[in-house]
Amino acid sequence: MGLKSAIEWTESTWNPITGCTKISQGCKFCYAERMAERLQAMGQANYRNGFRLTLQPQMLELPLKWKRPQRVFVNSMSDLFHEGVLLDYIQRVFDIMRRADWHRFQVLTKRADRLADLDSFLEWPHNVWMGVSVESLDHVARIDHLRRTRARVKFLSLEPLLGPLPGLNLQGIDWVIVGGESGPGARPIEESWILDIRDQCRDAQVAFFFKQWGGQNKKKTGRLLEGRTWDEMPTAFA
Ligand code: SF4
Repeated sequence: MGLKSAIEWTESTWNPITGCTKISQGCKFCYAERMAERLQAMGQANYRNGFRLTLQPQMLELPLKWKRPQRVFVNSMSDLFHEGVLLDYIQRVFDIMRRADWHRFQVLTKRADRLADLDSFLEWPHNVWMGVSVESLDHVARIDHLRRTRARVKFLSLEPLLGPLPGLNLQGIDWVIVGGESGPGARPIEESWILDIRDQCRDAQVAFFFKQWGGQNKKKTGRLLEGRTWDEMPTAFA
């Protein structure tokens, strides 16, 4: 069994690194930061540094012990391609993902330029899904960086969606997740932005997943779009 996650598009989380630094508007109300501070206050050993970038090598082998195949979100509390994480350590994380080939690993970064720079130093196992976060038009270049990598499954997390994203280039992209921001101070999302992205996915035959409306109370706002849920997943290597 893994460390069960409440995130709708995954099953478990694995954090061989914790902590991060903010790099764009999407980071403003970073969930990982809030959670790290809470866990630090509770005295959890892995969070003794709070949200400061910290390698957790004692966590590296954890997925090898999880017998049941599952989708594993890698570094829900950090960013694997953070400039403070040396290539050697990233390669160790990739080696574990290769060895734990009964799982599907979902890696998500905002450091797409570093991801592209390191691509040729990484061996991409078939079970690694690589994604980039894009919250607004200012950051669509991250998608081009992702496209340049040799990851077999490529996805976008458009969350927290802060504006419309017309005219996305979805070539080579297998999966798109959309979500509104949640929690105190959450910035609003508009239905027209979501519907436009859904239609772009439909036209490009890309799997579309609507995670949440978000807002102050995300349980109340839910995740129905036009009266239904949208839980598509990439079919290749799924
Ligand atoms: S990149 Fe992700 S984990 Fe890092 S500060 Fe931004 S939202 Fe938080």
